[in-house]
Amino acid sequence: MSALTELYKEIALCQQCEIANSRTNVVPGEGAEDADILFIGEAPGWHEDQQGRPFVGPAGKFLDELLASINLKREQVYIANVIKCRPTGNRDPLPVEIRNCRKWLERQIELISPKMVVTLGRYSMAMFFPGKSISKIHGTAQKQDNVIYYAMYHPAAALHQQSLRQAIETDMLKIPTLLAQAKNITEIEPEPQQLKMFEV
Ligand code: URA
Repeated sequence: MSALTELYKEIALCQQCEIANSRTNVVPGEGAEDADILFIGEAPGWHEDQQGRPFVGPAGKFLDELLASINLKREQVYIANVIKCRPTGNRDPLPVEIRNCRKWLERQIELISPKMVVTLGRYSMAMFFPGKSISKIHGTAQKQDNVIYYAMYHPAAALHQQSLRQAIETDMLKIPTLLAQAKNITEIEPEPQQLKMFEV
């Protein structure tokens, strides 16, 4: 059994937050265990909670289309969320939930060891780009310890808003070049408040 599969079992036993009691399924994440690209969304919605899989509703369908635009299938990347249980009634994740769940995401990043971490939406962005505004930094890349960090809008937000949709489509198209030219991206100084996963 792979280390990630072992980890899923641990995540499934987690009862640290109230929402563990209302979930149908825990949604740890899925994809290639040696993926170059790790996409991190916000939290499971209704569809994800039902199936125990990330991004399987309308936002997921759009994410699949975005991946197809760069000739990738979801099986070739890894898709996870900031929190692994569905917040009741699809509310925003609470700071305490993000703090409790952070250890799982850290373990996933460690095990997958991606070349590129793509944050989808504000909650995911806030963990790597603290204090930044998504409207300013989406579509820009930074590199630290040889990992590229790249912020994009959330597919659910972009789905119905034409300007965001154009932005997310354009930002996705930049990914292959960023990966291919990773060595040309300047490493940023490893200051504690920069990029290394940040306590939200
Ligand atoms: N939105 C997310 O952030 N994650 C999912 O898994 C589905 C929708």
